[in-house]
Amino acid sequence: MKKNSLRYRGRFAPSPTGELHLGSLVCALASYIEAKQNKGVWLIRIEDIDKERCRDHFATTIINKLLEYGLESDEPVVYQSKRLNIYYDAIEQLKIKNLLYPCVCNRENRKKYRNIDCPCLVNPIKHTNQCAWRLLTNNEACSFNEVNHRHSKILSKEDRINITRRDGLISYDLAVCVDDATQNITHIVRGEDLFNHTFVQRFIQESLRYHKPIYRHLPLVLDDNGEKLSKQNLAKPIDVSFDCLTLALTHLGIYKPQIYYGSTIQSSIQNIIKSTLIYKLNEFD
Ligand SMILES: [Zn+2]
Repeated sequence: MKKNSLRYRGRFAPSPTGELHLGSLVCALASYIEAKQNKGVWLIRIEDIDKERCRDHFATTIINKLLEYGLESDEPVVYQSKRLNIYYDAIEQLKIKNLLYPCVCNRENRKKYRNIDCPCLVNPIKHTNQCAWRLLTNNEACSFNEVNHRHSKILSKEDRINITRRDGLISYDLAVCVDDATQNITHIVRGEDLFNHTFVQRFIQESLRYHKPIYRHLPLVLDDNGEKLSKQNLAKPIDVSFDCLTLALTHLGIYKPQIYYGSTIQSSIQNIIKSTLIYKLNEFD
């Protein structure tokens, strides 16, 4: 595909395991501002594949709160839980390419066999309902572009993630790759806690011959103890206020937000998009 021939398509993809917190507002704002400054499309995707951890009402409150900030998905919101068949098709393709192998190892075993082949690979087993499907990586180099930077890593045996877990749950990395491909996402702006996932995701994208998005990983918002703000550590839900907007913008390096401010929160964000080029459009990978 010709470089730069794709229109910018970005996304924000929260898991509805809790309410919107400052860290997620930062990611939503950064991806929205970048998409709109590049005259692109911005989408919301709800990553609710893990039904045990996700709650429908959190998805609704996250979407509504983003809407109050003026961050509205340009296309209907996509829910991973409604796309399982698409993921199973991709898993079949990986199996056909011999990139998956059945594995019965539990978490403890997986740690033990981190650097060597586990017994399920030494003496291949037949897949049963009790097996996970694991990704076969073999010290291949994997690279992705982050704006003007190229990151590379050797994918070792440690990176042999579960594509489906022993209980059948589809992996986060697989679902995200399939979604980004089917939604034609060109640019991904997200927290740097996902940096290492990007190598595995690039490997999956290459294996399935998907197009390769550009990535930008944002510094995490930390709490007073230096821990990442997350729903798991009960990060405080945010309200819709100029205070929260200012905190989020300051984290993104927009230090003089007052000069961009409009009469409402929504118009303030629109003013930022119009008045300063924070991000530049980069070549596609
Ligand atoms: Zn195993």
